[in-house]
Amino acid sequence: MPQFSLNADLKYLKGVGPARAALLSYLGLKTARDLLRYLPSKWKDRRGLNEPLPHYVEKESVFKGKVISACQVYTSSAVLVFKALLKGDKGEAEAIFFRKKKGRFDPLIPLKKDFTPEKEFWLMGEPEPDFLKTRIKVSEYYPADKENIFLHAGSIIPVYPSTQKLSQKFLRELAFRVISDYLPLECEFLPQEILIKRGFLPAQESIKNIHFPPSLNALEKARERAVYEEFFLMLCAWGIKRAQTRVSDKGRIYEVKKNLLSPFKNRLGFEFTASQKKAINEIFSDMRSSAPMSRLLQGDVGCGKTVVALSAALLACENGHQTAFMAPTEILARQHYETISAFLSGLNVRIALLTSSIKPSERELIKKQAQAGEIDILIGTHSLIEREILFESLGLVIIDEQHKFGVRQRAALRGKGFNADMLIMTATPIPRTMALSLYGDLDISIINEMPPGRKPVKTYTASRREAFEMLEKEIKAGGQAYVVHPAIEENAAEIRSVKKEFEFFLKAYPQIKAAMVYGTMKYSQKEEVMRKFAAKEIKVLFATQVVEVGIDVKSATMMIIQNAERFGLASLHQLRGRVGRGERESVCIAVSENPGPLASERLKAFCRFLDGFSLSRQDAMLRGHGEIFGVRQHGDIEFVIADIYSDRDILMKAYEDKQELMQNDPLLKNQENALLRKKMLEMYGDKLKLIEAG
Ligand code: ADP
Ligand code: MG
Repeated sequence: MPQFSLNADLKYLKGVGPARAALLSYLGLKTARDLLRYLPSKWKDRRGLNEPLPHYVEKESVFKGKVISACQVYTSSAVLVFKALLKGDKGEAEAIFFRKKKGRFDPLIPLKKDFTPEKEFWLMGEPEPDFLKTRIKVSEYYPADKENIFLHAGSIIPVYPSTQKLSQKFLRELAFRVISDYLPLECEFLPQEILIKRGFLPAQESIKNIHFPPSLNALEKARERAVYEEFFLMLCAWGIKRAQTRVSDKGRIYEVKKNLLSPFKNRLGFEFTASQKKAINEIFSDMRSSAPMSRLLQGDVGCGKTVVALSAALLACENGHQTAFMAPTEILARQHYETISAFLSGLNVRIALLTSSIKPSERELIKKQAQAGEIDILIGTHSLIEREILFESLGLVIIDEQHKFGVRQRAALRGKGFNADMLIMTATPIPRTMALSLYGDLDISIINEMPPGRKPVKTYTASRREAFEMLEKEIKAGGQAYVVHPAIEENAAEIRSVKKEFEFFLKAYPQIKAAMVYGTMKYSQKEEVMRKFAAKEIKVLFATQVVEVGIDVKSATMMIIQNAERFGLASLHQLRGRVGRGERESVCIAVSENPGPLASERLKAFCRFLDGFSLSRQDAMLRGHGEIFGVRQHGDIEFVIADIYSDRDILMKAYEDKQELMQNDPLLKNQENALLRKKMLEMYGDKLKLIEAG
């Protein structure tokens, strides 16, 4: 007998059993509470009406009718066929069922039993209109007098994010049983004022309607509350995290001494742009305050984030604290190491590079020096996070191209110091509303201008032949080019691989010096190729997406992207950002032989919009659901039903309400918010702990 509580184990419910319980627990569903909160990812309209539907409801063809006649159709194949003629309000339909033979058992027996004259059924399946009647290849059917038929037909039904092995039918029935028995135990956790202000239904009714909506209108309202809850609880979690950070004391006092900063500025060879200066001021002001900094530095590809970050590192260094600077790839870490070394040469700053391909003996030395405080700036890849890497006094953590890392990795690096300041850099232009939800624990600095003298990169689409012709001219005129491919090897006829294209190029243009670089190549080889390319010994670099992030070779003037339809706008823009960094005007050519309609639109937008902000807006309009302009969520913040773009209005409401609520109760410690706090911890507690560490 199951205990009557929301903690009741699903395993003991009727019809579940150990095997299904295991599959359920694989989906994170262990208790009645879990199931109540297991939200459908979309809904299917099985009412058989013709109404416009919102994007989260899918129309499904249904037919309801009484059996006129039914029989087996004799065929010679291994598949048995059964046919029934039904008559309904919409006319007649011929239902066809296909069943595979399994041993001696006749798979048609249940159908023969069910489909007797005069019995009424709901049928689901693809209809093929014929001359006089409709023919339906039946995928699902239910007798019209089945108990609780509305769970399966004649209504709007939920579709749960499921594994293949648990059928939607089973999940619907289980959800219904749990709702019937356990929903009365569910408490209201949203403050009364919010319910009234936003016109939400009470929790219980809302949960019932989101699983089994009695109408489209009821679904819309229930979904709105569920989306709101997702946003609101997460914003509360971020809010608490921020309130906690603000009162913690890092115990370091910074003074802008300028014994490193001034010489650094003097040897830069350029002036900081106004936005760079503003960002540096914001960062310095954070670093000088007693609370640890958590700041996102956002700015388009090529706007000069590195020197801003380096200024922060020098402030830490001037005050005797260390900096860890983490980049997502080895090439990028090495490049940062080299540019930073050049900027700081002659200054008394000790810099080191740590990646997985550093020799063990050197690695040991770096490890010792970092721990002894003999390295001021340690640059590296994920290697920096490894447990054995320790610092004497880590004051600042810098993370480049943050979309490549998750909260966990951020936290791991930050945890190597005591309340270390953290600066995260991203070229992903995130609209403010999205930043609120994805990075609610961060303050944001924005660089919104390019260094002077940058010329926009002309962008075209062209055929492969045209692209190679332009490439030949460009090299003759003294330029250098990247040719980027989606794959290393040939694996589908329509995809050009870097290896094949490189081979072709060597034969077709033997007079042009070319080389190839891809991710799985040995690091020393990659480095050699990159070095030669930077030194202009190599004119054309055939590459995979390894060149996407951060690579800075000023003399490169042409970017050719093959199978451009395979790349998202964020990647295309990152790739384009590799050129247009020097004096000479640069060109980007997207080669795509037969892009589909969506990819065509994408490429059109790519040619038209040259800055990341406009592009991301286009992307939001073009994209279906999925990755948002390069923001890989990495399991950081995953919404089950909320969508940051299409539910933006609800997000803004949730934000406004959270601000109001937390003004009076920043840690949600008041008695009247106890249930809210409990709910928030249930949903985001683990995440919050994580966030707490980082
Ligand atoms: P990103 O923001 O994409 O990381 P980088 O930091 O790599 O961009 O900067 C791109 C290039 O612009 C680098 O070569 C850098 O030295 C240069 N740069 C940065 N700031 C300025 C500036 N204020 N004036 C001129 N060049 C600059
Ligand atoms: Mg960069």
